Amino acid sequence: MSSIKSNLERVRNQISRTSKRFNRPADSVKLLAVSKTRPAADILEALDAGQRLFGESYLQEALDKIAKLTGSGAEWHFIGRIQSNKTRSIAENFDWVHSVVKLKHAKRLNDQRPGHLPPLNICLQIMIDNEATKAGMASGQAKELIEQIDELPHLKLRGLMSLPAATDNFEAQRIPFQKLRQLRDQLATTTTPLDILSMGMSSDLEAAIAEGASIVRVGTAIFGPRN
Ligand SMILES: *Cc1c(COP(=O)(O)O)cnc(C)c1O
Repeated sequence: MSSIKSNLERVRNQISRTSKRFNRPADSVKLLAVSKTRPAADILEALDAGQRLFGESYLQEALDKIAKLTGSGAEWHFIGRIQSNKTRSIAENFDWVHSVVKLKHAKRLNDQRPGHLPPLNICLQIMIDNEATKAGMASGQAKELIEQIDELPHLKLRGLMSLPAATDNFEAQRIPFQKLRQLRDQLATTTTPLDILSMGMSSDLEAAIAEGASIVRVGTAIFGPRN
């Protein structure tokens, strides 16, 4: 068995074991395989092993891989920092964007989403505390942005994403994830339920699942360490 295939099996088992432990319904946590910096051949191996959702952070390399893997059935999620002059390629080539932090980007993605494609699924990236990067919007500004995005017909606002700084203590890992869930509970409405919590990576996915993650974004544990 290839190592990508056996890694995927291990991560899937970890997700289902953890879901059970925290009384999450079976299949309520989706696995997004973060394939940034990895060649298309690695993605093909993961596809062969039944993986469908892939996350990319760097636009140019992502576009090359998306082109190579046309017709493969992969669903593409953009999880990197958005630059205004690159929104068109994102709107044309991705199914999801997890990293929306400002209205200007949301409007451009909306205007540039091709009419023949379904609305682009998006999450707002929230700076919940002590972020690993300075990316993310202040949680206090989320309500207004949600109301503005609700008016954009080619976007579908699905939920919230966060990328807290790494820590190796399970209880400490839970804190920012719990805050993101509580923020979601405050902001959710019947028309915009924000059912997606995109949180948890290779080293903290169990804490994220404990706090209600619905998409975990896992790179290293599937594809091995990056350079
Ligand atoms: C790289 C990256 C991941 C995956 O991190 P791993 O530690 O390799 O699992 C998840 N989310 C985002 C936003 C990333 O940039």
